[in-house]
Amino acid sequence: MNTLYLSSQNLTHNYNVLRSKIGDKTKFIAVVKANAYGSALAPFAQHLVNLGVDALAVAYTEEGVQLRALGIQIPILVFYPQIPTLHVLVSNSLQPCLYNPTLFLELKKIVLQERHSNYPVHIKYNTGLNRVGFLPNEVNWVLNQIRTAPFAIQSVYSHLAASEEKRPSSLCDKQIKYFQKIKTNHLELETSQPYFHLLNSSGVFNYPEYQFDAVRCGIALHGFANNDKWDNELQPVATLKSSISQIISVKKGASVGYDHGWVAPKDSSIATLPIGHADGIGRHFGSVKTPVYLHNKPVSIVGNVCMDMLMIDITGVACELGDEVEIFGLQHPASEFALHGKTISYEVLTQLGPRIERKWLS
Ligand SMILES: *Cc1c(COP(=O)(O)O)cnc(C)c1O
Repeated sequence: MNTLYLSSQNLTHNYNVLRSKIGDKTKFIAVVKANAYGSALAPFAQHLVNLGVDALAVAYTEEGVQLRALGIQIPILVFYPQIPTLHVLVSNSLQPCLYNPTLFLELKKIVLQERHSNYPVHIKYNTGLNRVGFLPNEVNWVLNQIRTAPFAIQSVYSHLAASEEKRPSSLCDKQIKYFQKIKTNHLELETSQPYFHLLNSSGVFNYPEYQFDAVRCGIALHGFANNDKWDNELQPVATLKSSISQIISVKKGASVGYDHGWVAPKDSSIATLPIGHADGIGRHFGSVKTPVYLHNKPVSIVGNVCMDMLMIDITGVACELGDEVEIFGLQHPASEFALHGKTISYEVLTQLGPRIERKWLS
């Protein structure tokens, strides 16, 4: 019906490209949050472990618990741990990223209760994204706390707000400056010698000289880096295919789909695919006539995408029931599909629902 094919070869290629851009000693933190960006968490994460990444990272505790349940033993960072999940986090030996005083003190309480010492944690600073993180002027609070907390600070990091923006970017430059100051401050505390990191996927391409001691890559492992030139060095991992459920002819002037989403400008042939907005293909992709590929020919999604189905205009293309239709893939990647819906590859990939079968190509 609908299948997301995942190329482990292309994942290996992307990992090697990223590795070639960073120093031999630079650690590689592979970000596999949100079901490895909507792909398939288990084989994707296992493949990365086999490739030799230094750590995995997820957004929330439950995602880290899933990785431990798969038997993965390398360090797992949890970027955005929530206070009610801290007990579970500690019992699964996950490494929290601490991003404000309340979270820091709550974790301290739990770690003391459970009689741990030197529990591995990471410290996140907000240098300009203005989402989560300690503020640069909280660095002294953090340093004072570290002296007595039962923590072993593994790393200190921040996150760029526009790492793909053409240089010079005043926002990124300001963030880098703040981060360098924070690094200097942390190094003054000699009892704690963490590693430092700032770059995501686009950052590795745009700011390799600021890789510090580690990088955190997610989307580039899937073949995208938010810039055509960088994308050309990478290979898309995911190909999404559906297949035709029904074909009908409609007369000029007939409307197709809910709410007269499309009106045939001439006598037309319409095919229905069993994939809809419940599977992650947003309703609006039809109203902008997003192309998909039938026997390698572009045909348009027409009308409003339904919950479970969408319609394509196949007028003039010979085809039959069961024929495959590629929604995105190697020639027409998810990043290109995303542009039609005024969104980004991240959203297209992570929206793909559980009804789509995942096939790992090893
Ligand atoms: C998701 C995330 C990343 C990965 O970003 P990509 O652009 O996918 O490489 C890195 N760091 C943090 C803090 C993140 O939340």
